[in-house]
Amino acid sequence: MTAYMDHKDLANEVIDQSRAQEIADGVHKVLDRIAQAEASAGREPGSVKLLAATKTRDVGEIMAAIDAGIHMIGENRPQEVTVKAPGLMRLLADRGIALGVGGDDAVAAAGHAVAGAADHIPFHLIGQLQSNKIGKVLPVVNTIESVDSIELAEKIARRATMHGITVGVLLEVNESGEESKSGCAPSHAIDLAQRIGAMGGLELQGLMTIGAHVDDERTIREGFAHLRRTRDQILASGAEGTANCKELSMGMTQDMAYAIEEGSTIVRVGTAIFGARAFI
Ligand SMILES: *Cc1c(COP(=O)(O)O)cnc(C)c1O
Repeated sequence: MTAYMDHKDLANEVIDQSRAQEIADGVHKVLDRIAQAEASAGREPGSVKLLAATKTRDVGEIMAAIDAGIHMIGENRPQEVTVKAPGLMRLLADRGIALGVGGDDAVAAAGHAVAGAADHIPFHLIGQLQSNKIGKVLPVVNTIESVDSIELAEKIARRATMHGITVGVLLEVNESGEESKSGCAPSHAIDLAQRIGAMGGLELQGLMTIGAHVDDERTIREGFAHLRRTRDQILASGAEGTANCKELSMGMTQDMAYAIEEGSTIVRVGTAIFGARAFI
């Protein structure tokens, strides 16, 4: 288990008022930044979804973000999904909101009807997934954003088919070529996407990348623009199972404005909402 999990109780549900206010301010600032970037790129208001990247944050902090307007969350580690999901589901059910795959029953038990998308918070896995952890996340997460090989896709597909469910996947592409990053090679992305699209038990929903870790704006934007062109080529191919390959999950605290200008549909933001991470 990762060391920071020994130092912080991630299942904690109670945070003080000033911390909750700090998080609410963070959410509002990020929503403003997204609206500004949409406007300056000439894009529809609301065309970019904000995913709160919640690694190292506890249940109370995540609930403060949701109460301030977050509609989608993403975790990096299966272990964190397991620790936080029960508390999140119970607290959200109290508000008539379902979380991820498993939320509907909890909401029904709390006496609320599930009606409309606003009452459901999608739960994504955005970090690397080892195949022995697939079973941990499948009952909870709607979409796995970090699929970067046929082998991993096949293992997820097999599990999903066994459970009679369909799991959303994004193909992660290593646009920057940085060795520390996961993701498939950009030159393989179209072929992999078409093969993943054809697998039962999976819905290919789009592509994901992590921006280049450099200061140079042009380099960062080139990676995002290339991911967009790749997505467009996959859609244009008309290959089986690629019709819903629409999402571009790109842009984080440092580079979300560039990503939105280059066509991002999901920005994954942690630091700008919750503050600097104390661990990792
Ligand atoms: C942590 C993380 C983010 C958010 O990063 P910030 O810089 O804190 O906004 C986004 N995507 C992935 C895959 C992450 O691991």
